[in-house]
Amino acid sequence: MILANARILTFDSANRILDSGFVEVRPDGLIGVVGSRRPSGAEVVDCGGRLLMPAPINCHSHLYGALARGMPPHGKPPADFRAILKKLWWRLDRALDPDDVYYSALVGLMDSARCGVGTVIDHHSSPNACAGSLDVIERAFRKVGLRGATCYETSDRNGRRSAEAAIRENVRFLERARPSPLVKPAFGLHAAFTLSDRTLRACVEANQPLGGAFHVHVAEDRCDRRAVRRLCDFGILDDRALAAHCVHVTPAERGLLARRRVNVIHNPQSNCNNAVGAAALLELVRAGVLVGLGSDGYSPRLWDEFKTALHVQKLRLRDPRAARAEAFAAAFRNNGAIVKKVWGLELGRIETGAKADLASIDYFPPTPLGPENVFGHLLFGISNAPVDSLMVDGRWVLRQGRFANLDERAIAAKASARARKLWERF
Ligand SMILES: [Zn+2]
Repeated sequence: MILANARILTFDSANRILDSGFVEVRPDGLIGVVGSRRPSGAEVVDCGGRLLMPAPINCHSHLYGALARGMPPHGKPPADFRAILKKLWWRLDRALDPDDVYYSALVGLMDSARCGVGTVIDHHSSPNACAGSLDVIERAFRKVGLRGATCYETSDRNGRRSAEAAIRENVRFLERARPSPLVKPAFGLHAAFTLSDRTLRACVEANQPLGGAFHVHVAEDRCDRRAVRRLCDFGILDDRALAAHCVHVTPAERGLLARRRVNVIHNPQSNCNNAVGAAALLELVRAGVLVGLGSDGYSPRLWDEFKTALHVQKLRLRDPRAARAEAFAAAFRNNGAIVKKVWGLELGRIETGAKADLASIDYFPPTPLGPENVFGHLLFGISNAPVDSLMVDGRWVLRQGRFANLDERAIAAKASARARKLWERF
């Protein structure tokens, strides 16, 4: 298939922009030739001059939270991070059954697709529906057609048996006989402050023969300070680990994260919402840490995380010049580099041999657009424009604003019915 007549932001090594270009999508789901003149012979899809770019990647999310949208508050609003976990998320995850897990994943993935996101790195928890839950999430990924990864959140907060079940679920999913090409496994941990030394040791031992990447929250709130060194000492934070947040880290810990080549995932909207503090994005980058961007389940729109990453740093440093390069790199460069490091995936650029994960956007620039000013167009224009189509692995997920393979309204109606029952059990 040839996608022709598109304005292409390649994000390739030369950062080329093709004003009227084409992309060959091969049957194996990879990008073939990219160029300015349309080759003949193959099936041609006219993009109508729309903007074509690599589908954004969300490096940290929680699909299980999707059915909490609009849930009525219970009692006084939680006043700090621990209270938010105890009163909301740790009650919600215990109330989930396997059908809730499926529908929340479907809803979260459909929302992501609508925002042009092609890859979601999920971190799951459903303590009373743990065994098999990662297969249920994988089924939702396949239904929507998105790419991603998932893992189960090991924690001691529900007792030892629950932690052991979580380890078994991670191991089972890492050992699958028939792994899905679209959904990769990882080994999930909640955070150092809910994990005993004994459980951390058990996770490392269980993962040792499997070589899974650890995906863990690190120093999100003050209550998890000093997590970096402890998790490093256990061998959990290494060059394939995803460390979400890293808000409360010292300069020495930033140095340690850089030396261990840990992948830090910044989630600025969630940090604002939970009022846990502003991660020192610039200092992390200056220390040599690779920092990507995630949503922590707060929003499916990576565009909004990009904007918030930028705005929070400007405000934190009271410097209007701050963080342009760092926010841009986190959103549009580093997430691709991280999924390559962790799972060997070639994503985030339109170049021969990369995966054909492409977002087509209704953006017809009203001012000149070139490699030197793409930042301004992303910030003020492209991020606000509707997503017309989304392709993942060479297959259409969204076509002209509609899902190619599923009935969105029917799924929303079923999800809403599930949510009502979930709220009653909460
Ligand atoms: Zn999270």
